[in-house]
Order: sequence, then structure tokens, then C-alpha cells
Amino acid sequence: MTDIIRLLPDSVANQIAAGEVIQRPASVVKELVENSIDAGATEIKVVVRDAGKTLVQVIDNGSGMTETDARMAFERHATSKINSADDLFSIRTMGFRGEALASIAAVAQVEAKTRRPDNEIGTFLEIHGSEVISQEPVACSAGTQISVKNLFYNIPARRRFLKTDSTELKHIISEFQRAALACPSVAFSLIHNQTEIYQLPEAPLRQRIAHIFGKGMNQHLIPLDAETSIVKISGFIGKPEMAKKTAGEQFFFVNHRFMRHAYFHKAVTEAFEPVLPADSLPSYFICFDILPDHIDVNIHPTKTEIKFEEERAVWQILHATVREALGRFNITPSLDFDREGVPEIPPLGKTQEIKPPQIDIDAGYNPFSSPGSSPFHTGRPPAGWESLYEGLSPQPSLHDRTHAGEEASSGEAESRGTQFYQFKNRYIFTPVKSGLMIIDQKRAHERILYETFLNNLEQSVQISQKNLFPVTLELEAGDHALLMEMHESLKRLGFEIRNLGHGNILVEGVPEYARHVDLKPFIENLLESYKSTGRNTEAGPYEKIARSLAIASAIPYGKPLTQEEMQHLVDSLFACQSPNHTPGGKTIVFILPVNEMEKWFR
Ligand code: ADP
Ligand code: MG
Repeated sequence: MTDIIRLLPDSVANQIAAGEVIQRPASVVKELVENSIDAGATEIKVVVRDAGKTLVQVIDNGSGMTETDARMAFERHATSKINSADDLFSIRTMGFRGEALASIAAVAQVEAKTRRPDNEIGTFLEIHGSEVISQEPVACSAGTQISVKNLFYNIPARRRFLKTDSTELKHIISEFQRAALACPSVAFSLIHNQTEIYQLPEAPLRQRIAHIFGKGMNQHLIPLDAETSIVKISGFIGKPEMAKKTAGEQFFFVNHRFMRHAYFHKAVTEAFEPVLPADSLPSYFICFDILPDHIDVNIHPTKTEIKFEEERAVWQILHATVREALGRFNITPSLDFDREGVPEIPPLGKTQEIKPPQIDIDAGYNPFSSPGSSPFHTGRPPAGWESLYEGLSPQPSLHDRTHAGEEASSGEAESRGTQFYQFKNRYIFTPVKSGLMIIDQKRAHERILYETFLNNLEQSVQISQKNLFPVTLELEAGDHALLMEMHESLKRLGFEIRNLGHGNILVEGVPEYARHVDLKPFIENLLESYKSTGRNTEAGPYEKIARSLAIASAIPYGKPLTQEEMQHLVDSLFACQSPNHTPGGKTIVFILPVNEMEKWFR
């Protein structure tokens, strides 16, 4: 018998891993700029051509690299930022996976010039698709200059997947803004096709914000300032009248890195709720300083999701800080907020009892536990839910199964050596480095679908639909109006719905995945979720629809999953931008740390 297991050649392994880290030119900008920041640069220049498809170049005046380091830097798991596993918990910089440069070099033509300030001569290095083309001494200025040309030149399928220049440039600008806001003490510039987009001198955060978003912004910022034993919060919130209908000016930074955090976002929007017009989103630029061992940045390959150990406490502190700042602004409108040093008021006022949303505590919470409101209300698992992924661009489809199992195949799972274990047909257990990871299956799916739907709406992807034997439904007038409001977006997501007047609708087509769905409860559930997200001021129109449809379409609790399905679900979850929380801010992932377990058995 011949052995069939072979090690992947490095170049292939690198390409595969690259897919995790490098999705588009903006990811290259992000990784290179992070490295420059980590290298202590005080000046970072970003030059892009054709929205980064032809060239992304980052030039810094940081520490530079020696000849050996320059070569090492492009090897997988090469990092100067970690020496032992212990460092993982005490690291201050966050770019410590040692994957970025290797990933970039696997999928592009890279040239690097680098010199340490105390060396006379620098190093030039050229790598195409993981292959070193040349390495030689070169005269260059101190610091590092990396040019990434023709991204995905060797993976045509991925290159084709890139969006229009204007979309890719938008992504680049948004990564650039995040870095520039995270590190206002560094001078930044961005040049696209020879046009200067930003020229940002070193400045306090407030000026940096004004440089990026316009001078007018300055008088609309309210400073935040709170220091507790757990976390220090600083930065600014925009006055309520600045709130916009669209997302874009919401920034969290933790230890000078941008992060996403749906749960903390909710803390801010809830604090704003009493003073904000419906359906608008407050601007904020909020910085957290926290001891690095109180957070886990390593849960997501691109590191924009960060897990806080004391999440609920931080939620409360944040909520109270924002509330207090808004209160200060409302009560004393004549106060000069342009001064940085506004008198400090304790963040947790004794008068107000603040609770984080109940839902986050109650892991067993099931919005669809009453049978009538379940999306697939027959109680039977929907056939072929895995085809949910089909035709939706970012997620690959599930190949492995031809039919969904009412006959749960737990036996099959066990006999293969279980990597995933489904508990109560509701939670997925899987071992991870630091302990046991527990994932709420329905919420995970909700997150995956949400990002997919949102992406499809924003990118105007038209999902093909399957014709149905038309089904007429009668809706109450308000619901009918709401559904008509969603009509255009639903159509793009593959639903063909005709207005028959007098509250009647005719459903003529649905996307593949909804073919076997019981339409009446499905639509009711969709409307129900739409109404409740409507009360939520933070969501834009696409977000609301993506969110409601994701809730209505997610696999229900009680659905047995096979190993492959669980694997796919978990993989897709961690390919999401924000795998930790549902769009509504509920917890999806919980890690039971192994050191906790060890304590039980002492
Ligand atoms: P990581 O940042 O996770 O360590 P990278 O692949 O991004 O991994 O970088 C690998 C190593 O290359 C870094 O640890 C650092 O030592 C070095 N490096 C990368 N970019 C720069 C830079 N601009 N200046 C100095 N050193 C750099
Ligand atoms: Mg890095």
C-alpha cells in the first residue's frame, strides 16, 4: 500500500495560509503599516497604485532589519515579537503571528529594502510567490520599505475576486484611517496614483480626527476620560447632532490597535439612545488601555476581534463613561469642550444602575423557543440548510453532504475521533490551544449569514432565485408595509415577492436555501426581527435586513450537525469579520480555559 499523506510544499501551505490573512490589497496595507508601527516608526508613507492591485508600498523610518532578519522575516512563523509561549500573554504589540510577510510574499511579487540606523549598508530582497529571487546589499535610508506588486498574480481566481478599484480603495482608506487614528503620534501619508489623499502630521488624537474627517468635526467632539483598575478609557464621542445614518465613524482602539467589538458598540449606542434620532449611528473614537494579559487578540487571523477577560465590567464602565460624557454635554452646553482637560467625573455614578444586556449573560436564551415563532416551525430541521452557502459569494459551499440529517450521525462522528462535539443539539464543543471552545450553533450561523447577506447587498450581488409554486400570504397592514420597505433588498437576496394589495403578498421565488422553508412562519419571524432591529438605533437599512434575514434563516437549535457541518460552521464563523458576537451583540463563542479546569481537579 502506498502512503497517501504528503506534506504540502511550503509554497502551497503559504498560499493557503495567506488566504486567511490577505484577502485584498487593504489587508496588505494593514499588515505592513502594523509592522512599521511595531518597528517604532515615527513616519509612515503608504503609496498605492490601481487601488493596490498593482502596487502597495509602505515606507517607514523604523528600526529596520539586519540582513539575516530581513530574510527570516518572510519565513512562516518568523517573528521577533515572541520568544516563548509566555510572551503570548504579555506581548504589547499585536502583530505577533509571524504570518503576514510570509503570506504576502506567497501571493505577490515583493521587494524589500531595509537598513538599521546603525548599519551603513542595507539589504535588498526580492521574493516572488515565496521564492527568493535575489538578496543583495543596497544603499538605502534607515528604516524599511516594502513594495508589494501584483497581488494574487499567481492565484488568478483570487485576483478576479477583487472588487472595482473604487471599492478596493475604500477598503484601503478605511484601514489607513484606522491605523492613523490608532497612532496619532506617528506621521502618516497616503498616496494613490500620484494623488495625495492624506498628509497627516503628528498630532493629538483630536487634531488627527479633524485632519481626517474635516475641521468642522472639532467642535462636535466630546472627550471621554475614565480610569479604573481594569481599563483606562479615553478618546471622543461625537455630539448627537453629528450622528449619521450610515456606519463609518465608529472606532474602537485597544492599546493603539483598531478593533471591532459588537458588544461594546452596543454599550455606546445604548448610552446614546435617549439623545439620538432613530436610525442614526453615533460617531466615536474610543481608546482602551488595558494590560495585555487581560485580552486575547489571537482568536482571529486578522486580529480585529479581541476578547476581553472582563467583558461585562468593561461594558459597564464604557456605558457609564459615555452616558456621563453626554450628560455633561447636555447639562452644561456652554462648557468649552475644545479644551482637552475637562474635569473628571467618576465614571460609575452611584445614582444610575447600569446593567449590560441580559441576553449576554443568559447563554441559554433562545429567541425562537416558542414553537410558533420558530423560523422552521415544523420542528423538523430544514432540509439542506447547508446550501445556505451556495451562490453567496464569500463562503464556500458545503460539499460533503448531499442531504441534511434528521438521522444525526453522532456515531459516525465518534468513530472518526471527535474534533467537534455537539451538546444538546445546540452547542459545539471543540478543543483549542487555551482550553475548550464552546460555540452557540444558531448564533454562529446568524453571524455567518449576516456578513454574507450584508456583503451581497453592499456589493450588489444578485442571488439567483428558485421559482416556487406561488404562495399567497395575508399580512396585517403594518407588517405588509414593512415587508414592502424591505422589498428591494429581499429581491437582491433572492426573494421574489409581489404586492397584491390589501395586505396580500404573493411569494413567487426564494433563494435556493429557503426552498423547503415553511414560508408563513419564516416571513413572520423575519418581520419580527426586522421590527426589533428597527428599534435599534445603530443599524443601517442593509444591516437591518441582513440581520433580520440572518435571524430568520439561521439553523435552529435542536438541529443535529455532522462533523463536517460543525467543521464548516466553525471555519466560516472564524472567517467572519466579527466572530465573537451576533450582530445584536450576543455572545457566540466562549472559551473555558484549561487552567480553570485544572483548578477543579486540585
Ligand atoms: P509579525 O508582525 O507577526 O511578527 P510579520 O510577518 O508581519 O510577523 O513580520 C515578521 C517580522 O519581520 C517581524 O516580527 C519583524 O521582526 C520584522 N519586520 C516586519 N516588518 C518590519 C518593519 N517595517 N521594520 C522592521 N522590522 C520588520
Ligand atoms: Mg506583522
